[in-house]
Amino acid sequence: MEIKAIRGFNDILPDEIGKWQFVEETAREIFEGFGFSEIRIPVIERTELFSRGIGEATDIVEKEMYTFTDRSGHSLTLRPEATASIVRAYLEHQIYTFDPVAKLYFIGPMFRYERPQKGRYRQFYQIDAEVFGVENPMVDAEVVLMLIHFLKKVGLENLELQINSLGCRNCRPRYREELKKFLEKKSFQLCEDCQRRLQTNPLRIFDCKVETCQEAIADAPKVMDFICDECQKHFDKVKEYLKMGGLDFILNPRMVRGLDYYTRTAFEVVSYQLGSQNAVTGGGRYDNLFKDIGGLDVPGIGFAIGMERLISLLPKDKEFTQYPHLFIAALGEENSKKAYELINQLHLHGIRAELDYEGKSLKSQMRRANKLRAQYVLILGEEELRRGKAVLRNMESKSQEEIPMRDLLNTLKTRILHD
Ligand code: ATP
Ligand code: MG
Repeated sequence: MEIKAIRGFNDILPDEIGKWQFVEETAREIFEGFGFSEIRIPVIERTELFSRGIGEATDIVEKEMYTFTDRSGHSLTLRPEATASIVRAYLEHQIYTFDPVAKLYFIGPMFRYERPQKGRYRQFYQIDAEVFGVENPMVDAEVVLMLIHFLKKVGLENLELQINSLGCRNCRPRYREELKKFLEKKSFQLCEDCQRRLQTNPLRIFDCKVETCQEAIADAPKVMDFICDECQKHFDKVKEYLKMGGLDFILNPRMVRGLDYYTRTAFEVVSYQLGSQNAVTGGGRYDNLFKDIGGLDVPGIGFAIGMERLISLLPKDKEFTQYPHLFIAALGEENSKKAYELINQLHLHGIRAELDYEGKSLKSQMRRANKLRAQYVLILGEEELRRGKAVLRNMESKSQEEIPMRDLLNTLKTRILHD
């Protein structure tokens, strides 16, 4: 029986990898320019970290976690998101003793047991950035600014930045009650999941994709009308700083984000090119998560970008694959040895070169050079060898020149690397 990959788990093949590398390199460059350092966290954590951190009444914890018992009977979970682990690492290694302000980013795969479909997988990659230890709304805006700068830098267009304020522990409970009262009158319209959410976490109903639920919630009270003065002040400042940074945004009172730990600022960037799985990235402030996980009172803010969705939006006309600089077509035993010697030198000098290992005819070697999309072909023929020359063919312009075998390496280096 043929063994295939598990549904929802993808291979990323060499013809696509250029896009991934480009996105990751750009993220590293930009985030580090904004003063962020990379952190790498384990793939598996104790289940408790996520159930406590993300919240029992969220989709992730209720039905999407890959949880299993290991051989010692511990309940472990494949990480469904990065924030809880990064918070744990900050507390565990007491990073705050060096500087209470930490700016960290992370790139890697996440695991959620969801129904696989376009833009939704069971293993998917995220780029994640977090700032710990700053309450000032200036940092909310700075993080969003960095995010938008990054998305534009990789070439995304027609993005919409949506923001909302979710209030805090002081003001959100009252909103929750109002929302619950409102929806109880319409509970017959709600799907089975939302009937349950109405009791456990009514804010989650905003995220439901079922049409009747969307209708039920259409004129529900808005969280923004219930936030306290402190939250209002914070939100006004965020908007002011975003404008100072030259960013356009829209207020979306229905965007409540899936995770329990968010407080105050929440944001999403959506692309209308993506269809129903349209959120490229989401994030927000979480001023209670630290207390829930480890007892310390540290404010935080961050975002997570879905890499698959981001990559599907990259400009179609941009070239991400690297093709060989040079293909060496050698004819005859002696030339083949020369080709071997030369290719090793070329590789040491950073020139992407290929050769034919099977002693094929010139015609078939040229075909392969074409297929590999080599920029140049160096032909080492018997006749040329006798004259101490080789032929260099530019595959794009189709022009050829004879070059002396002596000093071949330097000639090729100047031609190729200074092209
Ligand atoms: P959605 O509403 O689409 O389920 P989410 O609120 O669960 O998103 P977050 O937990 O905020 O998503 O994760 C941040 C980003 O990760 C999302 O905006 C999305 O781009 C991406 N993402 C989330 N779940 C998946 C998945 N199963 N497959 C691919 N990408 C995903
Ligand atoms: Mg989700």
